Parts: sequence; C-alpha cells; structure tokens
Amino acid sequence: MTQRIYYTEPYRRSFDATVVAVDNSAARSEVILDQTAFYPTSGGQPYDTGTLGGAAVTEVIDREDGSIAHIVAGTLRPGEVVTGEIDWARRFDHMQQHTGQHVLSAAFDRLFGVRTESFHMGQQSSTIDLAREVTAAEIAKAEDEANRIVWEDRPVAIRFATAEEAAAMPLRKESGRTGSLRLIDVTDYDLSACGGTHVERTGGIGVIAIGSAEKFKGGSRIEFLGGGRALQRFRVWRGALSAMQKHLSVPPIDMAPAIERMQEDAKADQRSVRGFQEKLAIHEAQALLAGGGRLIAEVIEGWDAQGLKAIALAATAAQPDVVVALFTSTSPAQVVVARGANSSVDAAALLKKLTATFGGKGGGKPDLAQGGGLNAPSDELIAFVTSPPS
Ligand SMILES: [Zn+2]
Repeated sequence: MTQRIYYTEPYRRSFDATVVAVDNSAARSEVILDQTAFYPTSGGQPYDTGTLGGAAVTEVIDREDGSIAHIVAGTLRPGEVVTGEIDWARRFDHMQQHTGQHVLSAAFDRLFGVRTESFHMGQQSSTIDLAREVTAAEIAKAEDEANRIVWEDRPVAIRFATAEEAAAMPLRKESGRTGSLRLIDVTDYDLSACGGTHVERTGGIGVIAIGSAEKFKGGSRIEFLGGGRALQRFRVWRGALSAMQKHLSVPPIDMAPAIERMQEDAKADQRSVRGFQEKLAIHEAQALLAGGGRLIAEVIEGWDAQGLKAIALAATAAQPDVVVALFTSTSPAQVVVARGANSSVDAAALLKKLTATFGGKGGGKPDLAQGGGLNAPSDELIAFVTSPPS
C-alpha cells in the first residue's frame, strides 16, 4: 500500500520517498515507493509525469493491491531514498480540468437535475456524458452558472468520511466504495467522492468553456475546456479566424453568411459555364466530325468530364454511325466514350479495356460510358483506341 501524498497535499510538486520494490522483469522498470505525490491514472484523470531520482517517470499505474507503480526510464534500487519531481504544468492542467468537471457537472445537476454518467480527460479537451439530452439554452445556462462559481473563488476542501457518514451527506453521486471515503467539497455547491487532484479554490480553474455538444447514448456528450486549455483553444481559433478574415474581409460574426454567398455565387457560375459548354459542345462536335472518320479519339483541351460528355452526345446525335472517345488533358485523364444509334461498338466494354490497361475506374452502358484515373500520356490513350493491340 503506497501512501498517497496527493490525497492531502495536491500542491506538493516534490517529495522524498524510499524505494520499496523494483520490478525489472519486463522491458520497463516498475518502481514502488513507500509514499508518492505522483497521481496514477484513475477516475478519468491521466497519470502525472516527472522524474524519480533524476530518471523520467513515463507512466503511473494504480494497482489492485493499493500500491502505485511508477514506470521509470532508469535503474533504482530497493532501500534507496529518492526525490520525486512532478511535471507541474501537466498536473496543474489536470487539476483545472478535474475541478472544472466537478463544478460543471454540479451546475447541470443543480439547474436541470441532469446527472453526469462519466468523465473523460483527453489531451486537448475533456468530456462529460450527461444522462439526458440537453438543449443549447440549457448548456449556455450551465456554462454561465459554472463560471459564476469559478469567479466566486469558493474554497475546494478535501474531507474524509466513513461510508456510513457519507451515506448521510448530500453527495451528488452515491459512491460504491466501502471504508474511508475522500470527499471533494466545493463550498456550498458540490460534494463528491473523488480520489483525483483538484485546485484549492474554484478561482484556480480560471474559466470553463463548452467546446461542443453531441448526442451520445440517449444523452449528451459535452466537451469542455478549463483554464489554460480554454486559452489555448481561443488562440487556435483566433489564428484560424484571422487567416479567414484576410480572405473574406468581414468580421468573424459575418463569416458564415459571407461563405454562403460565395458558395451560391460559385454554383451560379458553374450553371452558366454548363450553359456555355452545351452551346459550344455542338461546334466542338462538328469540328470532330469534319474529319469524316467513324472512330474518333481526341484530347479536348480545357474541358472537364461534364463538358466532354456534352460534346460526345452532340457528336453521336449528329452522326449516328460514329464512336467517340474523348479525354481530358489532365493527368490522370478522364474519359467519355459514346456511340451513335447505328454503331454496335460497346462503349462500356471499350472503357473497361482502357481502365484495365491504364488504371483508374469507371462504368456505364453500351451507348455511353465514363471513367477517370487513366495514367498514361494522351498519345498512348488515343493510339490504344484508334489502333487497339490485337
Ligand atoms: Zn474529482
């Protein structure tokens, strides 16, 4: 059983301890101390990192038997007295998120009677899963309420109680544990059994910002950011928004409608391009047919697949005896194969031969087939159609 310094002194960053046991049997070294300030992964909060006797602590594990195993990149000997140093930036971040979670969960509970089913602290943000789906208005209210508690800078006390004593207390969530319970008391706001690390006053959380909300298992999954993480996210968004502002020349609040307008304009442009293409396709088709051949294969510069289709259809409508295979000038090339009503050539079969030889994919019917991803110079593609290998 390792004595857990962080239970009573969550602000301790360094400590001395005696090495009780070392297990070097695995590829990594597992060290057990008589006491530790390192937090092991549990209750949704990730482990602390830092150093032990100068060696890096890469993971901390809460064992079934009540001991805490430190995975150490170095060699320590039993009986040795070592100094442990906690990576404080990482730990304090976890304390902000974890205390923020207590306050936010309590806000949903107190305002709307919605229970928190689970909590997860990720690398960038954390989530709580609520028992029922909450509305955007409820989320905004809970966010306001949680931040009110943060800014009132209420003391966050650590208490210990027996399970019997705790049963008579207004815990937000019953604890299934037996024996001594560790309680986290956000003064006059939330009382929860918890083994994690927390800031000593709610002001230490800084701010609680909701990142996003989504439906999850019949309830809502709420993503939130406490303190430093909220600032970090703000910086990322500020960078992204100012980059967008350079292109859009409107303030962030007007960006969504500006993008919508641009998309509508682009669609309108595309429609008029299609209109022009269809008119021009008739002339392009006439130029193709002017050669008099029955089998026409050509690269059409500056046209997309949609345009090629218009040309191919115009050509086969004007001359029912022909087969046309038209390629884009792009690399890889796209292709449209069409045949006139009097031709017995199978356009889909020809396309299949092209993709089998040059790669890509496509499909269609005997009279019209379309494909793309053909990886070959255009003269090879044309030669393949006009003088196919026997
Ligand atoms: Zn907690």
